[in-house]
Amino acid sequence: MPPIRIVLFFLLFMSCCDNFVLAQTDANVLRILKKAENEFKEANFEQSLITSRVALNTSTYIKNDYLIARSYKVIAANYNELVEFDKAIFFYKKALIYASKTDNDTIKNKICNNLGNMYCFEKKSYSEGIDYYRKSIRYCLKIKDSSQVYFTTVNITWAFFDIASFTQGKRYLDFLNKNHIKFGDDSTEVILNMLNGMYCRHTKEIEKANAYFLKAIQLGKKSTEKSDLSFAHLEYSKFLSDIKKYKEAYYNLQKYNAITDELYNVEKLKKASIAGFNLELDEYKRQIDKIESEKDSQYQSLRKSRIIVFLFVLISFVFLILIFTLFKNISFKKKTNIELLKAKEIAEEASLLKTQFISTISHELRTPLYGVVGITNMLLEEHKELARSPHLSSLKFSARYLLSLVNDILQINKIEENKVVLENLTFNILDEISMIKNSLSFLSQKNNNTIAVNIDPNIPEYLIGDKLRLAQIMINLVSNALKFTKNGEVIITANLIKVEGIYYFIKFTIKDNGIGIAIEDQSKIFEKFVQVGRKEEDYQGTGLGLTIVKRLLGLFGSSIEIESDIGKGTMFTFTIAFEYNLEKTKKLINEIQVDLTSNQEYKVLVVEDNRINQIVTKRIIENNNYSCKVVDDGFAALEILEIEDFDIILMDINMPLMNGFETTKRIRLKNIKTPIVALTAFDKDEINDEAVASGINEIIIKPFEPVKLFKIINCLIVETKNVGY
Ligand code: ADP
Repeated sequence: MPPIRIVLFFLLFMSCCDNFVLAQTDANVLRILKKAENEFKEANFEQSLITSRVALNTSTYIKNDYLIARSYKVIAANYNELVEFDKAIFFYKKALIYASKTDNDTIKNKICNNLGNMYCFEKKSYSEGIDYYRKSIRYCLKIKDSSQVYFTTVNITWAFFDIASFTQGKRYLDFLNKNHIKFGDDSTEVILNMLNGMYCRHTKEIEKANAYFLKAIQLGKKSTEKSDLSFAHLEYSKFLSDIKKYKEAYYNLQKYNAITDELYNVEKLKKASIAGFNLELDEYKRQIDKIESEKDSQYQSLRKSRIIVFLFVLISFVFLILIFTLFKNISFKKKTNIELLKAKEIAEEASLLKTQFISTISHELRTPLYGVVGITNMLLEEHKELARSPHLSSLKFSARYLLSLVNDILQINKIEENKVVLENLTFNILDEISMIKNSLSFLSQKNNNTIAVNIDPNIPEYLIGDKLRLAQIMINLVSNALKFTKNGEVIITANLIKVEGIYYFIKFTIKDNGIGIAIEDQSKIFEKFVQVGRKEEDYQGTGLGLTIVKRLLGLFGSSIEIESDIGKGTMFTFTIAFEYNLEKTKKLINEIQVDLTSNQEYKVLVVEDNRINQIVTKRIIENNNYSCKVVDDGFAALEILEIEDFDIILMDINMPLMNGFETTKRIRLKNIKTPIVALTAFDKDEINDEAVASGINEIIIKPFEPVKLFKIINCLIVETKNVGY
């Protein structure tokens, strides 16, 4: 059996037991109450009160309103007999409160009738008493208890006649006369005759009244209820006095007094016997009050515990909702986290793909461009007459344009991927700027511009920083200034604006008096591929120059500012903090190779699979009066190195059969120490680690400046020879 069913079964069993116990207790209380009622009938009021108190306690404990009402009723009846009318009324009223909670109309009618008696005949408070009688009659009619209706009607009639409301009392009297045979008894017959006598006295029906009173007295003498007889004498005495029969009236009054005295003495006896007991009764009353208040407090605590239970349920409910929401949130977060992780993975994958894509495209573009640029140069050298050919110069220009585009894209990509790290090199600002000026002299002549350079004499001779990136920034800005200025002047200025410790803040300005840039375009020009008012015939740019400048300055922790007026010119300003450190500078200067160029004729081995590139490289090398041998792949290189010595090997990386790294490794395995320069279209950073690991000495990116190539070749050869190879 599942646990929940066991619990339910247990609860059911418990509730059956409870009902059984309660039923048992009900029967017990009824038994105790009957005992108390018998003791009351036997005029053993003391004992009856004790017994009814036990009944009250038990019935209060088992919360049986009917039994509580009945217990109070017995207590009240006892007090009535003990002539403690106020207490009697108090307990009758309590009885009525509990009786009202039940649907037992019999007990309600009895209590109301008794309260009517209390008010009318003991307290002489007739209107209240009559109200209770009326209530009593209503309850009797409800339960169709006609004999009780009859008895209560006797009381209500008497009450009306007592207060001389004969008209109101008459209809009740008629009812009594009509139903006497059916519902009356000996006692009520005495009173009925007396009431008829009273009514006839009121209506002045002398003979009839006299007859009724005499009948009442005659019946009263036979009855055990002596008080009825006494009242019959009293009323008859009043009547006789009315009709001026004073002697008889006096006689009847005496009779009344005698019986009353007799009854009074009995009462006194009763009272005397309970004199000491009254104290105890008060105690009972207190006990009863206590029971009441305990019940009240029980009720209050029940109410409180109900509120607590309600709050508990409410709080539990709120907790459940919270836990549910928390659970939902966690699972939502989990889900979101998983989604975020997935998105991150996808983004990383996409970024990797983009990098690979750009690198592959760059490589694939650079290789043929090397050929195009090289062959164009060769054509121009071999056929000097073509130097003026617009087609050839267009070809050369286009090839160079494509090359700079590829390089720019690659560089932006590298900066965006945070792959660019600034280097620390010693440099002289004046030298660097002069070099830039010289390299751009062709451009300045083209547009008939002059370049002026102003260097602050306070700037130290040597500074430390990434001079290559600085040069790149300057070249971009100065070449722009020269492109967008005709017959004008470009001024390059460098000023020391502040010194903070070892850092010297140099402010650079590149100013032209060219076409200028409209205000609305000034912020746009730093975005990728933005060219303002581009005209084919004027110039060709990639729209990436200023983007690169901005990004490179970001690496220096700096930014660029622009001031420009259409038709008046443009001024770009930026500030870079370079390090000034004499010790470091000396060390770096000592490391600089002074002159590594040589007039010797070196033997160069070129390992290259691309036919066009073979031709281009061979031509460049031979133009420098070096001897050159070309092989198609790595295996051929290994073969020739078996039989021939070379001063330097220029190694392509991306080759079929065996790539440049593998070939170099095998060369080194043969213990051949000849310096190897990788000639590649790959980006240097991409292959640097693998190149060093395989034994490559230097990397040159195709297409390259021949001068740079020879500088490196000479440097490496001298270095190798110096260390004794
Ligand atoms: P581009 O390769 O076209 O020169 P840049 O990013 O270097 O690309 O420059 C973007 C645009 O900014 C240029 O096309 C030009 O319209 C404008 N610009 C840059 N420098 C100057 C200047 N000194 N004078 C006038 N316009 C300039």
